[in-house]
Amino acid sequence: MRVFTGIQPSGDLHLGNYFGSIKQMVDAQEQNETFAFIANYHAMTSLSDGERLRELTMQAATDFLALGIDPNVSTFWVQSDVKEVLELYWALSSFTPMGLLERAHSYKDKTAKGIAANHSLFSYPVLMAADILLFSPDVIPVGKDQIQHVEIARDIAIKFNNEYGEIFKLPEYQVAENVATVPGIDGQKMSKSYGNTVNIFGEEKKQLKTIKKIVTENVPLEAPKEYEECNVYNMAKLFLNEQECVALQERYTQGGEGHGHFKLYLHDVIWEYFRPYRERRAYFEKNQDEVRDILNSGAAKARVVASELIEKVRSVTGIKY
Ligand code: ATP
Ligand code: MG
Repeated sequence: MRVFTGIQPSGDLHLGNYFGSIKQMVDAQEQNETFAFIANYHAMTSLSDGERLRELTMQAATDFLALGIDPNVSTFWVQSDVKEVLELYWALSSFTPMGLLERAHSYKDKTAKGIAANHSLFSYPVLMAADILLFSPDVIPVGKDQIQHVEIARDIAIKFNNEYGEIFKLPEYQVAENVATVPGIDGQKMSKSYGNTVNIFGEEKKQLKTIKKIVTENVPLEAPKEYEECNVYNMAKLFLNEQECVALQERYTQGGEGHGHFKLYLHDVIWEYFRPYRERRAYFEKNQDEVRDILNSGAAKARVVASELIEKVRSVTGIKY
């Protein structure tokens, strides 16, 4: 099966990105043909500092490699290195009803939160459809927030195919049940643009400080505590096996410990989990030329697939004259 994923270099990677997408992709590498890319064009919807975008793109690449994307197994590239995607974006635009985009949750949520509505934020799902359809994947592992975008890609593909024949494969999304939406420190969906993230590769002190800010119920130390709705518990359980979950639940229900204790525990669990990845990251951080080489050969591999598809599109649409 061909598995596909992308991530925006619009800020530091967080636990939501890891469990909702990166980890699933890394796990998929063993048995599948995997395609992973850094969505730098997408990042332009929220970032207008060129130096910063350059920096964040290399940072995202470094993070991905550290977290286990294996360039010998996966095709791994930066979106803007395969420009065919922009051509496809335009071709798909004519098959994208305005109403479809107007109904997109992500756009509605972001504008409701005061993020300025511009055309790229609005048409983001069309570029995402181009990202996907260019590579004919079978499956796209995503967090719950991206399901609708994959559905939009399918809708657009169906309309195009109806007109021009079976050019695009219809992609399926895949959501890991227990990590559909990773909560942020305020209990909303963890999201870079909401400023409520626990980052994967932060400094230890900073991480602890963030974790201490997680919103919890206000109950006396001695009292038993609810774990099911607790943001600390829900974050911790992503890292724990069943036995460890049960042990933590018992600590909640027994009483005698406060959320401060659980937060310290959560911090330790996260810090230990990412220790080996931090070490790999330090290696790639020192060897940025190697990262660039990896991206270059990844783009070359991706271009082979992309140019074949775009040739078909050019041919059926008559753009190739
Ligand atoms: P932004 O706020 O800019 O949209 P983001 O933090 O939501 O950024 P994206 O780059 O949009 O991150 O998402 C990358 C991947 O991570 C997607 O597959 C998305 O579904 C997944 N993801 C993001 N946040 C979460 C979350 N809280 N829980 C589960 N998956 C998530
Ligand atoms: Mg998002």
